[in-house]
Amino acid sequence: MAYQVTLIPGDGIGPEIAEASRRVVEATGVPIAWEVVEAGEAVIPRYGTPLPDYVLESVRRNKVAWKGPLTTPVGKGFRSVNVTLRQELDLYANVRPARTLPGIKTRYENVDLIVVRENTEDLYAGIEHRVGRDAAESIKIITREASLRIVRHAFELARRQGRRKVTAVHKANIMKLTDGLFLECARQVAGEYPDIQFEDMIVDAMCMKLVQAPENYDVLVMPNLYGDIVSDLCAGLVGGLGVAPGANIGLEAAVFEPVHGSAPKHAGQNRVNPLAMLLSGVLMLQHLGETAAAQRITRAVEAVLREQKHLTYDLGGSASTLEMARAIIDRLD
Ligand code: NAD
Repeated sequence: MAYQVTLIPGDGIGPEIAEASRRVVEATGVPIAWEVVEAGEAVIPRYGTPLPDYVLESVRRNKVAWKGPLTTPVGKGFRSVNVTLRQELDLYANVRPARTLPGIKTRYENVDLIVVRENTEDLYAGIEHRVGRDAAESIKIITREASLRIVRHAFELARRQGRRKVTAVHKANIMKLTDGLFLECARQVAGEYPDIQFEDMIVDAMCMKLVQAPENYDVLVMPNLYGDIVSDLCAGLVGGLGVAPGANIGLEAAVFEPVHGSAPKHAGQNRVNPLAMLLSGVLMLQHLGETAAAQRITRAVEAVLREQKHLTYDLGGSASTLEMARAIIDRLD
C-alpha cells in the first residue's frame, strides 16, 4: 500500500526544488501516492485566499505533507500561509536538525543537534496593542499544557534517536512567571526520563556556548521566540539556509519543509540548492518509518557533497538543481 502524502510545491523556487527532491525520494522505491495541491499567491484570484480549504483538508486526510516555500503576500491583508497552516493544524513542535555535512565549508566540525521549538504560543500569539500614540505592548503567553507537550516531544525524540542530552533554553531569571513556568514544566518532564541527561540554560548564554562549542549540545527545547532565533543560529553553524530542513509536527498531522523561503529572484532558473527540501523529505521518510530509505538518501547526499562535482552555485559549484538531484540518485546504494 502506498503512503498518501500531500505535496505542496509552493511558489518561487518551490516547484523546482520540489520536483528535483521528489525524484530522489521516488528513486528509493518507497511507494508514495502524492496528492499535489496548490496554495499561495497564485490561488488568491481563484479562491480569495492563499490557503484554500482543500489544502487543509488534504493535509488533515493524509496526515503528512511535504511543502515547498510560499511567498507571503505583502500588504494584502492575508496572514502568512505558513503560520496559518501551523495554527490550523496545531503543529505544535517545530523540529530543526543541524548537522555538519561533509564538503560544506563551515567554522565547525561535528555539529549534530536538534532544535525543538514550541510553535503555538509565546510572543507569537500575536496579542499586541497600541498604548496611546507612542507605545505598544505585546503579550507573551506561556501555558503549562503547551510547555509540557513540547518538552515531552523533545525527550521522546531524544529517546527514539538514542540521543544523550536535552537542554531546556529559557530566560527564567528575568521572566520569572512565563519562562519560569516553562522551566518548571521542563524539570517535571525531565524527571520522567532518567535515561536522558537534562540541563537548562539561559538563552543568551546558550547562544554564546553554541558558537563556542556546538558539539557539546544534542537536543535543545525552548519557547517559540528563542526557538526562532536559535534555530537560525544553528543553521548558520552547518552551512546556512540552502541545507536547513525542518518539520512541523502535531498530533493530527506533520508538515515537512525547508527552512528557507521562496527566493523569488532565483525562481524558474533551475539553479538553487535542492538539499533543504530534500533533507526535509528525509525527515518525512523517518516520520513514516522508512528509516532505511532515509539513510540511503542521506548517504547519497553526503557522497555528492564529498565529491564536490555536482553542486549548485551556493555551494561553490555550477550544477543545476536537477543535475544535483540526478547525481544524488546515481549515488543511491
Ligand atoms: P529566502 O529564504 O527566500 O531567500 C533569501 C536568500 O537565500 C535568497 O535570495 C538566496 O540567495 C538564498 N536561498 C534561499 N534558498 C536557497 C536555496 N534553496 N538555494 C540557494 N540559495 C537559497 O528569504 P526571503 O527573501 O526573506 O523571503 C522570500 C519569500 O519567502 C517571502 O515572501 C517570505 O515571506 C517567504 N518565506 C517563506 C517561508 C516558508 O514558506 N516556510 C520561509 C521563509 C520565507
